[in-house]
Amino acid sequence: MKAIVAQGWFDGARHHARPVTVVVDGDRIADVLAGDAAGALPATRCGFLMPGLVDAHCHLFLDGGELDFATRTRHLEAPFERMMEVARANVRRHLAAGVTLVRDAGDRYGVNHAARGGSATLSIRSAGIALRRPGRYGGFMAREIATEDEARDAIREIAADADDLKIIETGIIDFESGTVKGAPQFDARTLETIVRCAHAAGLRTFAHCSGSEGIAVAVDAGVDSIEHGFFMTREILARMADRGTAWVPTFSPVHFQWRRPELAGWPPATVAKLRAILDAHEEHVAVAARLGVNLCAGSDAGSPGVVHGGSLIDEIDHFLACGLTMERSLAAASSLPRRLWGAEPADIRRGARAEMALFEGDPFADAAHLRRPAGVVAVAAPRTRERGAALTSPAG
Ligand SMILES: [Zn+2]
Repeated sequence: MKAIVAQGWFDGARHHARPVTVVVDGDRIADVLAGDAAGALPATRCGFLMPGLVDAHCHLFLDGGELDFATRTRHLEAPFERMMEVARANVRRHLAAGVTLVRDAGDRYGVNHAARGGSATLSIRSAGIALRRPGRYGGFMAREIATEDEARDAIREIAADADDLKIIETGIIDFESGTVKGAPQFDARTLETIVRCAHAAGLRTFAHCSGSEGIAVAVDAGVDSIEHGFFMTREILARMADRGTAWVPTFSPVHFQWRRPELAGWPPATVAKLRAILDAHEEHVAVAARLGVNLCAGSDAGSPGVVHGGSLIDEIDHFLACGLTMERSLAAASSLPRRLWGAEPADIRRGARAEMALFEGDPFADAAHLRRPAGVVAVAAPRTRERGAALTSPAG
């Protein structure tokens, strides 16, 4: 047994501005005591304690710090072991930032699956390979599906070893025109079939989609989580709130393009478009918060300029800038995604899973303390999803 003594803490829902002692026994919280009550136990002392952070969207096989486009393209042809080295470095970056659970959003090389179990500390959910339409966006992370029959077969194969199903529903944003490239990849009927098959196989679904047309199709098809979701609308957000659909707005990749336009050579007109896209995104996240949409923090780390670990703190900062409270923002990056994914809670209470992030100071006093991590307490979670156990589809 050991003790963590913190000056302030967040239990997963509420902030407590007073000292606490959390007694840890193996992977369990044995007790939560007021004040400094470590007694004779070996104790770690810190300014602030919370459930381990969760990054709901990252790509472990990609190094977000690599900014040279030719090098990034060459990496997609690199030997598997080289990709695993990148993934292991990214695992270390997550842990160093206080992240103890990540959801990998797809690669076609299987680095995400192979990385599971590679760390004794970081828990990894892996979607394996995603689904896309032939010839459409997503070649580095998805396999091609032309018919509903092919979708059924693919999901059966993917479900054998994946924790979630990733669907590429739209193209990416064309920053120069400020629009999404192309029509939605899967029509409403096909996407409904995909979601139904995935749920029957016990997989939650999350869809890469931006542009109101594609987002609307995904929400109506019952996709569990909308990833990116640029060009959102209030009407769609109202439906998402009704259905309990999650939204992972991944500000970071677009924000980086806006912050460092010289790297891609964006002219001023494109920089203005990027700013307008980000402003609209902030407004819609604020609306989502008011409507009670399940907002989760995910960085899309691995994208150019989006470094694993630290970029999750950027996402929390974006949520704060949208007017979310610190409690809501920290829940979006810890307790809420665990609940939505059916993962074991890591709330700070007696008997719960001991999976915690320590910081030097209390972010409720100064958000910058989230940039001063002081270690994690975690044991990587075993994969417990029963193969073939069906999920119930969300209502609606
Ligand atoms: Zn992604």
